[in-house]
Amino acid sequence: MTISEIFGSEVFNEAVMKERLPKEDYKALKKTIHDGKSLDITIANTVANAMKAWAIEKGATHYTHWFQPMTNITAEKHDSFIVPTDDGNVIMEFSGKELIRGESDASSFPSGGLRDTCEARGYTAWDPTSCAFVKDGTLCIPTAFCSYNGEALDKKTPLLRSMDALNRQAKRILKLFGNDTTKRVITTCGPEQEYFLVDKKYYEERKDLLYCGRTLFGAPAPKGQELEDHYFGALKPRVCAFMKELDEELWKLGVLAKTKHNEAAPAQHELAPIFTTTNIAVDHNQLTMEIMKKVAPHHGLVCLLHEKPFAGVNGSGKHNNWSLCTESGQNLLDPGQTPAENAQFLLFLAAVIKAVDEYQGMMRVSIASAGNDHRLGAAEAPPAIVSIFLGDELQAILESIVNNTEYHDEGTVNMKLGVHTMPAFPKDNTDRNRTSPFAFTGNKFEFRMLGSTASVADPNTVLNTIVAEALCQFADRLENTEDFTTAVHELVKETISKHMRIIFNGNGYSEEWTKEAEERGLLNLTSTVDALPQMIEQKNIDVFVKHRVYNESEIRSRYEILLESYSKAINIEALTAVDMVRKEYIPAVSSYISVLSDNVLAKKQVISSIPCKAETEIIERLSKLLDDMYEISTRLEAADKEALALTGYYQARAFRDNVLPLMNDLRNAVDSAETITADEFWPVSTYGELLFKV
Ligand code: ADP
Ligand code: MG
Repeated sequence: MTISEIFGSEVFNEAVMKERLPKEDYKALKKTIHDGKSLDITIANTVANAMKAWAIEKGATHYTHWFQPMTNITAEKHDSFIVPTDDGNVIMEFSGKELIRGESDASSFPSGGLRDTCEARGYTAWDPTSCAFVKDGTLCIPTAFCSYNGEALDKKTPLLRSMDALNRQAKRILKLFGNDTTKRVITTCGPEQEYFLVDKKYYEERKDLLYCGRTLFGAPAPKGQELEDHYFGALKPRVCAFMKELDEELWKLGVLAKTKHNEAAPAQHELAPIFTTTNIAVDHNQLTMEIMKKVAPHHGLVCLLHEKPFAGVNGSGKHNNWSLCTESGQNLLDPGQTPAENAQFLLFLAAVIKAVDEYQGMMRVSIASAGNDHRLGAAEAPPAIVSIFLGDELQAILESIVNNTEYHDEGTVNMKLGVHTMPAFPKDNTDRNRTSPFAFTGNKFEFRMLGSTASVADPNTVLNTIVAEALCQFADRLENTEDFTTAVHELVKETISKHMRIIFNGNGYSEEWTKEAEERGLLNLTSTVDALPQMIEQKNIDVFVKHRVYNESEIRSRYEILLESYSKAINIEALTAVDMVRKEYIPAVSSYISVLSDNVLAKKQVISSIPCKAETEIIERLSKLLDDMYEISTRLEAADKEALALTGYYQARAFRDNVLPLMNDLRNAVDSAETITADEFWPVSTYGELLFKV
């Protein structure tokens, strides 16, 4: 089959809708998808019928409302289409009601107190803007998930609300520029996904990978990523076969998988799709992660999505490329050709700059997790400080606006900066600053702080909302001016001057930047525990409430959930560490010591004065480490219990301050022991095996 035959073959997409729905119903559905019009419920039955018939032809026997609870993964409960008939047979049915709304006894999903477990009902509601698809014999219907009272319990609902908010405000701005025709402004997202592939056999030897997704122990292999021979290197046959199957599976589901390559760390890879509407990109990224995990075992591999599977080599992130686009495809962050287009571009750019500066804290929160804490600021990913990279050219243009000076492009003078017009300038596609958390890359921003496991919904929800707020303030001001052009110029100038501090083009990994950022008054929230309280700062609550993205109780519940997830993640790690030390490392090292001791005794029987220096020293060192392991594991267990007795913020802080450091101490003891223990005694796979034996 050719790619065009494969692509979207498992998706109830527009082509299928057009073919299978009555013309009027198809038109109505299309309006909903493209213009955000609410759907006339009466057509649901027709759509459900068409979907069912199509899905059954694809071999489906079940349907599910596919949703995204606050777990970073998706959830599905499968119901078969069967309905019994009087004669003891069954027929296949699927009604409009079942399509539109599902009732889900979902008491075990995190709700942060929004839904008591005794009031366990949650509702899923069809999101017609994301196409249904067939996966493993089940018709999957993308849905939003909310409580009985309509409070969002998922990541999709706030995202859709934030897209609406941005649409409302962006259209006000476009109107001021004389654009009355744009029906809808959407946000676009292209999430680049990093991951590791390790051999299944070695994976299965490790409880830490199994339970925590990352190695809690492991001495570095003699070789790491220092030769830079893996980045963009030729693909190994097994990896290549994996990627081929992955692409095909994703294409079937309509995911625009485009670019694949080896990444910086050994065994690390990346997949980038072609960007699409944000809510679809979010769904597709979830599918991508799921299919990666599913396809890997077909090749004897396991896919690791954790932010930091291995110490000492790069961890995995997700680059969230983001822009604004009209329904006719005009990218609002694309610098235009004419002064008017440029003025509009500069205004949107100013809005993003203002938003990111004013809501740095929420940007930081949107990517915070226990896993991502290992990457940020570790000179492999952007620091925990949010800043914006614009590139020298754009920066110079903004400075010339602020300083009222003329901007000269080197060589060609193509700028004409009057008071009333903005300069025309060629777009800069040359961004290669990999150290910036939020970089302008010619016609979009690339938010580079995201962790690899997380759903991209949260960061996009935040971005959309805070930019909507900036645009709202701009529109409020500009709607009441007489000389629009001058007003725009003044507004851009004022905004840029005020928010210059957030712009930084230098090396974000350097120590100097940390100091300079502090002088500039930028936030440096180095851990999730430091970052999360930003969520409940009044200013941050206000902006989400104002734009109807979250109500206050939704925000507070999310704050609780994030704290809880952080604590749970570290608790599992601590328990796993103690378990591995007691049941695997201590017995293994002890056995090795005993063999060495026997050898010493045997040697001494032959020549009583023989020194046995090597064995004796190793026995001594290992015995000391063995005692350390035992002692630290006891303290770790106690610290973990103490932390568990606390709740909320204090619990998370105890995990960070009292549990994590002991886990590190324990690791140091185990890793030191690994370097002097015979291979055949080491109870689990090594970094060398995991990273280099694919
Ligand atoms: P790089 O590795 O240099 O960042 P890639 O080609 O790997 O570049 O990734 C760029 C990503 O940005 C792709 O997913 C691409 O589809 C996406 N992208 C391009 N234009 C836009 C846009 N207007 N909005 C959102 N994402 C975009
Ligand atoms: Mg990128």
